[in-house]
Amino acid sequence: MLIVMDKNASAADVKNVVKKIESMGLRAVPMPGAQRTAVCVLGNKGPLDASLFNVMRGVKEAIPVSKPYKMVSRESKDGPSRVRVGKELIGGGGMAMIAGPCAVESEEQCLKIAQSVKKSGARFFRGGAYKPRTSPYAFQGLGEPGLKILAKVRERFGLYIVTEAIDHEILATVAGYADVVQIGARNMQNYSLLRAAGKCGRPVLLKRGMSATIEEWLMAAEYVMSEGNPDVILCERGVRTFADHSRNTLDLSAVLVVKQLSHLPVIVDPSHAAGRRDLVIPLAKAAIAVGADGLMIEVHNQPEKALSDGAQSLRLHEFKELACQVRRMSQAAKQSK
Ligand code: PEP
Ligand code: MN
Repeated sequence: MLIVMDKNASAADVKNVVKKIESMGLRAVPMPGAQRTAVCVLGNKGPLDASLFNVMRGVKEAIPVSKPYKMVSRESKDGPSRVRVGKELIGGGGMAMIAGPCAVESEEQCLKIAQSVKKSGARFFRGGAYKPRTSPYAFQGLGEPGLKILAKVRERFGLYIVTEAIDHEILATVAGYADVVQIGARNMQNYSLLRAAGKCGRPVLLKRGMSATIEEWLMAAEYVMSEGNPDVILCERGVRTFADHSRNTLDLSAVLVVKQLSHLPVIVDPSHAAGRRDLVIPLAKAAIAVGADGLMIEVHNQPEKALSDGAQSLRLHEFKELACQVRRMSQAAKQSK
């Protein structure tokens, strides 16, 4: 159930509602919105009696939640969520550009790529120090030395770092270096990792599992939020289908549908969807056209020598061209509003 407060409700009114919910042995999570606050009730096994809340001061209405997810739902928050990362905001307009290699390979590689993507307009640097690889014999990432390289990138270029935590064991270490902790597609239904990410103290970028329905993806985000972390960014990265011309099939309709169902920002990763460089720029532009809040793009200074995902990585000049086109599209969209 959601207790929607009147827009003139006082902080004391909200507190009273929270107390009432807690006195019933349930959890209450206030969700402040642009116009009003809603209080989410968590932990109830069956339906609750709305009349218990409707009579309370400052309560506009108590509404049963029709969806299995609560905190991620549009019903719980008026208007889109904006996730703050340092001076940047992701969601609610704007276009977050996250760029960098698939894997951190060396300091020289990262500094070269970072310098170039920063100049092209990226504000976030991506790169895995821990890589979830299909083969146990493939490059698994540099580990903590890789995180230290990412910290150097932040220090030198002021780029915010997005990097993946592949398991529970490494999460706290990753959160110690990252500005945004990425949970990868393969871990989207790793519920203990999601719960821990909810307590890691950093915004979480949650990729869609490669065969996850939208409801499963939103429930995964609910796991993170229900542990007290409101800062979740969803990332569509393609799903597995019968198509074999691309690595995955980019599901751009998911961006639209998720935005109808949830207030959370949604970004798109066309690199892992396509698996091939020639499709990345057109798909990125299509993502903007459907209203994505940002892009995550793999970029490499020497893709042919990359230790992972070279085939889908843009060259430095290609990312520059993409960033330029993205700016033009965003300006045109603003002018036509
Ligand atoms: C990545 O972004 O490096 C990655 C492994 O992506 P995904 O989890 O979407 O496969
Ligand atoms: Mn990759």
